Amino acid sequence: MWPFSSSYPTVKPSGCRDQTGRRGTAGCCLASRLSEDPNVTVLLIERGCVADTWVNAVSLISSDIFKKDSIARPLNSLPQAHADHRVIPLMRGQASGRISRVNAMIYTRGVPADFNRWADMSHSDWSYEKVLPFFVKSETTLSHPGSTFRGKNGPWVNQVFSHESWPILPHCAQIDIAIDRNMKRRSTYSVFLPPSVVRSRQDRLKICPDTISERIVFTTNTSMRPRSSGVEFGHRDGTGASYFAKANRKIVVCCGAIESPQLLLSGIGPSDHLKAHGIKVIVDNPGVGSHLKDYVDVPVMWNIPLNESIHVVLEKPLQAVFELAKYLISGKGIFSDLFVHLAIFLPSRLLNENTKIVAPDITDLDSTLPQNGSDLEIKPMPIHGLDPPPDATIIRIKEGFMNFMICLLRLRSTGAVHLNSPDPYERVSCDLRMLSDPEDLAALTKGVRLSINLAERVRAQGYPMKMFHRPASKYDAEMLLSRCGQYTR
Ligand SMILES: Cc1cc2nc3c(=O)[nH]c(=O)nc-3n(C[C@H](O)[C@H](O)[C@H](O)COP(=O)(O)OP(=O)(O)OC[C@H]3O[C@@H](n4cnc5c(N)ncnc54)[C@H](O)[C@@H]3O)c2cc1C
Repeated sequence: MWPFSSSYPTVKPSGCRDQTGRRGTAGCCLASRLSEDPNVTVLLIERGCVADTWVNAVSLISSDIFKKDSIARPLNSLPQAHADHRVIPLMRGQASGRISRVNAMIYTRGVPADFNRWADMSHSDWSYEKVLPFFVKSETTLSHPGSTFRGKNGPWVNQVFSHESWPILPHCAQIDIAIDRNMKRRSTYSVFLPPSVVRSRQDRLKICPDTISERIVFTTNTSMRPRSSGVEFGHRDGTGASYFAKANRKIVVCCGAIESPQLLLSGIGPSDHLKAHGIKVIVDNPGVGSHLKDYVDVPVMWNIPLNESIHVVLEKPLQAVFELAKYLISGKGIFSDLFVHLAIFLPSRLLNENTKIVAPDITDLDSTLPQNGSDLEIKPMPIHGLDPPPDATIIRIKEGFMNFMICLLRLRSTGAVHLNSPDPYERVSCDLRMLSDPEDLAALTKGVRLSINLAERVRAQGYPMKMFHRPASKYDAEMLLSRCGQYTR
């Protein structure tokens, strides 16, 4: 029943046999772009559901990843030896459009330095110059009328929001949020595979939800390199038959950072690991499953008046009804919006121990140079930032929160994904080895200090903030991080 049900055109696994197989979904974008060509047939296999309902487009509701019926599901990491032995819930989306259906909708593209760094690693097609036209093609910005490097005619609508009511820090950047003119979430699903697109391409684009790709099938011939010939797949709960989709051209694997290696390990990976699970080695590639990185968030939180925090809709039911009505009538208010509007991006190497910018050489300010990419992001946001306790879905609170969330974007620590079994329906083990490299801790420490300084400056301007959750010491990194709550993601 609307707004909870959907009439999205999909097919069942049994209807996909002998189709040309393509896999995955950053995949929504890829499937959409590939099927623009009428001569290309695309099959998109997705473990999650479609979730094409009204509530999934409401920013505030859809982004609550901890609610019971969220389309995000955590996969717990192994205990992290360098992060107080915490188990980190790694959030994975389970719907078409994936994590972009539940994420914070921040539309950040990165600066030229980020892409030029990839080019420097010998991926020349990923330089800023090469990728810029694709970004421009994909987006419509509602907020940067004079910009020559922002798109005006693409499907991915985004905009920045005014922050007049906020005790604003002059150094924050306003960030673009993937929300359209009607104040609806723009996920890769709604942007690239809306029902109208899928219906108009039904002859060549099949969407098969609630389905798991079990294994890539290879043809091996001693005279040739192994070639993938198709994919075996079945219902996501593991019941019923397995099917085979033949790939006439290519299989695109885009199951995210954790499950892409899991799928590849059906034949491509470190030979010892595959043999230990009785899997036939098609290609011995030690890189599969290694180099796992996930960014680290550390919250520094302050109490603020409840009415200024998003938690007001949880704590005051009447206010929630009022806000919902406002959203339904005008598309405005808390339900339309997300909690992150501002961010500071910076390279931690430019900060000294007192969080002052070290007098930069002129080249330090060149945003195209690979070494100048930011490794820290600080986001002021009016929301509690700790993961809820495992047995709680809602944190009951009496005051609001201002959270200066410090995110380590470029990690030196790397972890790994390992199979627990050859069964594709079984979860993998994830060891992020979070903070195992001391340089990560050093960068985060600078970020935490800077956040505290910024928050204190906001408070000095007269904004009523009371310390709620912050490190006891500004200068002891161990103390700082052990007191500073959880690392999320
Ligand atoms: C809570 C949270 C908030 C975030 N906020 C932002 C933000 O505001 N802005 C931003 O830019 N980034 C944000 N990110 C990061 C961003 O959303 C992800 O980096 C991005 O979505 C990754 O895309 P992906 O396609 O690689 O993987 P995913 O989005 O994870 O997609 C993987 C998909 O593959 C499917 N799948 C997995 N295994 C199989 C299988 N065997 N068979 C079939 N299907 C399978 C899964 O169901 C899933 O739908 C956030 C991430 C999280 C967790």
